[in-house]
Amino acid sequence: MEVKLAKTAGFCMGVRRAVDIVLDIAQHETSRIYTYGPLIHNPQTIELLKSRGIRPIENIEEIKDKNNAILIIRAHGIAPDERKKIKSSGLKVVDATCPKVGYVQSIIKKHTGLDYSVIIVGDREHPEVDGLLGYTGGRGIIISTLEEVDKIPYNEKVCVVAQTTQNLDDYNKIVEKIKEKCSQAVVFNTICSSTEQRQAEVTAMASEMDAMFIVGGKNSANTRRLADLAQKKQSSTFHIETPADMEKIDFGPYNRIGVSAGASTPNWIIDRVMDKIMDGQSRKLKNIGTLLNLWIYAIKTDIYSAIGAGCLCLVCMLLQNIPVSLTFIAIASLFVYAMHVLHRLLGRKPANLVGSFREESYQRYGKLYYYTAGLSIVFALALAFNKALPVFLFLFFLFLAGLIYNTITFPEQWNFKSFKDLPGSKNISMSVAWGIVTAILPALDKDYSFNAGLTVAFVFSFGIVFIRSAMSDILEIQSDKLIGQETIPVFFGRKRTITILKIISLILLAVLLVSSPLGWTSSLSFLLT
Ligand code: SF4
Repeated sequence: MEVKLAKTAGFCMGVRRAVDIVLDIAQHETSRIYTYGPLIHNPQTIELLKSRGIRPIENIEEIKDKNNAILIIRAHGIAPDERKKIKSSGLKVVDATCPKVGYVQSIIKKHTGLDYSVIIVGDREHPEVDGLLGYTGGRGIIISTLEEVDKIPYNEKVCVVAQTTQNLDDYNKIVEKIKEKCSQAVVFNTICSSTEQRQAEVTAMASEMDAMFIVGGKNSANTRRLADLAQKKQSSTFHIETPADMEKIDFGPYNRIGVSAGASTPNWIIDRVMDKIMDGQSRKLKNIGTLLNLWIYAIKTDIYSAIGAGCLCLVCMLLQNIPVSLTFIAIASLFVYAMHVLHRLLGRKPANLVGSFREESYQRYGKLYYYTAGLSIVFALALAFNKALPVFLFLFFLFLAGLIYNTITFPEQWNFKSFKDLPGSKNISMSVAWGIVTAILPALDKDYSFNAGLTVAFVFSFGIVFIRSAMSDILEIQSDKLIGQETIPVFFGRKRTITILKIISLILLAVLLVSSPLGWTSSLSFLLT
């Protein structure tokens, strides 16, 4: 059983840049935001953008209040005449044209100025081609197939360019034929390197695998081209938009599955497709792998976090030289499980749009999750009460703080709608809560006062959880930006977040190295470095 995800799957540089530009504007601007045409060819992402007030329009007349609006030009670019028209309307315009498309526009502009006719090899209906045609000064010809070359007139002064997402082999064939007619043709390979690499990887993968899944909008030309290329090498090729398209597919015959995605497919959809395929594959192992399936389920749900909290609690007790107590391990596990589940249930992302197996499962079995979370918190509080009153009170107030964090909303006129909207609040509050239940609560059992060992254990637990949650947020930065979740990576950006995490790791390392020789903690701190 093998499931392989192409390295080149998902957003290309130009699409990522355009999406980032739009989302950054949405974060800081109060004006209405419009995109000139759908920002990307992916219906699910367009729905998410709409939920954030970012609307696609086909014509600037659709914008009523032009003084209070920003219009984004998408990665495909537009024709110069259209640009002029938009600017003269008084609209505030932000240009998110991909620099690589801008390069093709500049080639056409230059050669049109030198009196060349321009042949654009591409899809007639594609907005990028439409925009490029606008730079030809009315002397452009679009060629979509080899046969169409027969129709072009003989002309020595011809410049040939390609739509950036064309297939290189097809382009080369068309260019050969053009040269037979126009021997002096000036040819530019303007196919984007990201497209070439993506297509080469899919072709290679399709020859090796038993089945290929190409993920992306049915209206996305580059995704359709990927599916065509895969189909040539592998007859079991499926072009799917979302995991829902996979319901009727029988995974039985396929042991090696390859997955790739178009340049406008967001990571969260690719993740869901991967989850679905892994699910189908693990069902095949049902008879021989019940334990394995349970383990996979634990990883995909918050049981995994609960196990992690129990282990961290054990480590913190050993660090502080406190006698190991199974009750505190159980309290940490039950509390973390309950709060993680409640946090997910109360702060669910827009239905059916974003989410992995976990979110799907939370939507389907919401009630069951509420019951298990409720029972877990009751058990945790009962165990804490049985231990000592301060332990119970600490845990109870922590639980209340968690509820307030998840439910209280601020007045409409405030910049932040709830605590969750405060940048980085999720990472910090979660790390503090873990630090308290794993390091501080076990210490409250004794007549423990504040001491250095307790501080080291808390810092260790806080640091580990913070690093882990920020790292997983780095992986989800794209979907978090789309739905407006203010995580540390969204606020600081990927690079700065990695720098912050490196600094925290170094601090943790230094604290653990000195704490045992100074007599603050047990020698376990050496092992943890
Ligand atoms: S495929 Fe290439 S040219 Fe087109 S938007 Fe993406 S990076 Fe830009």
